[in-house]
Amino acid sequence: MARSACYNLALNRVETLPSMNKPKPEKPAHIVLTSHPTRNGVQPLPIRWGATEPLERGPVIGTLGNSDHRNVIGTHSGSYALYRALAVASGSLQADHRADLSHTAPIVSIGPYPSWHDPAKIVSLDPFGAVVDSAYATLYEQGYDIRPTIAITKAQINLPELQEVVSSSRLVEDGTIVKAGGSLVVTKVAIDPVWYLPGIAQRLGIKEGRLRQTLFQQTGGMFPELVTRPDLHVFLPPIGGMTVYILGEPAAVADPARKLAVRVHDECNGSDVFGSDICTCRPYLVHGIEVCVQTAQQGGAGVIIYNRKEGRALGEVTKFLVYNARKRQAGGDRADAYFTRTECVAGVQDMRFQELMPDVLHWLGITRIDRFVSMSHLKSAAIAQAGIEIVEQVPIPADYIPADAQVEIAAKTAAGYYTESDIPDAEGLTRVSGRGLQEY
Ligand SMILES: [Zn+2]
Repeated sequence: MARSACYNLALNRVETLPSMNKPKPEKPAHIVLTSHPTRNGVQPLPIRWGATEPLERGPVIGTLGNSDHRNVIGTHSGSYALYRALAVASGSLQADHRADLSHTAPIVSIGPYPSWHDPAKIVSLDPFGAVVDSAYATLYEQGYDIRPTIAITKAQINLPELQEVVSSSRLVEDGTIVKAGGSLVVTKVAIDPVWYLPGIAQRLGIKEGRLRQTLFQQTGGMFPELVTRPDLHVFLPPIGGMTVYILGEPAAVADPARKLAVRVHDECNGSDVFGSDICTCRPYLVHGIEVCVQTAQQGGAGVIIYNRKEGRALGEVTKFLVYNARKRQAGGDRADAYFTRTECVAGVQDMRFQELMPDVLHWLGITRIDRFVSMSHLKSAAIAQAGIEIVEQVPIPADYIPADAQVEIAAKTAAGYYTESDIPDAEGLTRVSGRGLQEY
């Protein structure tokens, strides 16, 4: 579909567009395997990870429309690529549809920063992912299907808990960051993962060959190019990405002369959205936003990083299995068995791999965090390892912790999470218990 046609669509001139007719399901064509270099000797555009200029670095092309152009393993949109496949299979989407990027450019520009040009500092996202439409305009006109992996927009958000904070005067309405009624003005950034495999391997301290082989095997052989195309170094993994919420002026985020608050939050649908009281996730998110607003109102900025890493990246099914196991075990839900029960079900306590987490901070140009709103020693250690200074770590206030979440907090503080409260010993942990299944 031509760009102009799509823009007309946005202006509601739809009646003139023949392409609005639902496309017929395509006949199954012969399958072209992507697992071997192109037959005609056409080499895809190279990617020189870490190069300073976007054209020198090369675009990330995961198109399925022209296999000669593909210079990555996998395709765009993370796990949503599978829904796109269903849309094509069912005939509701044309397989060769190209995105019309008119008026989609970032609302504010972020970067470039020196960290963008260090191939070891950012390995799990494309620093140029938000600006492909302008940076690669000439290639786009030549027919290359280059899609953004980052989008930047603005929004107004409103959390009931923060309305209470505003009415209690802990936060003040300023008409700019905090609007009447407690609504917050934010700049938000959606980021799809883009993995530079040599950099990921280096970060995890393993050989690239082992990384490729294991990714291939553990996805049931979904991506043969991982093992057959050593010439392709970039992988678009079929996983969730992240959203960045910036409070205050985006320009303040990378300005060392201004204070910065950061919370790195990993998704917890049960608490974040539905208010479950078995953990502290939503209270911590709300507290993080409150500290971000305070810092922004003091002339700095606040950043919330929201990672789609549900249940410590073990997934929600595993998480609910663990909840049942915790509450049904002998002696009921106890802090001393909190991590053990997860390990029994999942084989590990945690699969979030904080080693990759600081990439987004580098992308934002952050070199110092004045207030890091988190108790996690794993996150603070990963950030320090990445060369970003944390001035102060801010734990959650005790009165924010929900009733049934004492098991989680006690277990975490005993395991080394940052706290300013008393740390329970082994005997103390056995006395911290949660609600039984019969008590709901
Ligand atoms: Zn949670």
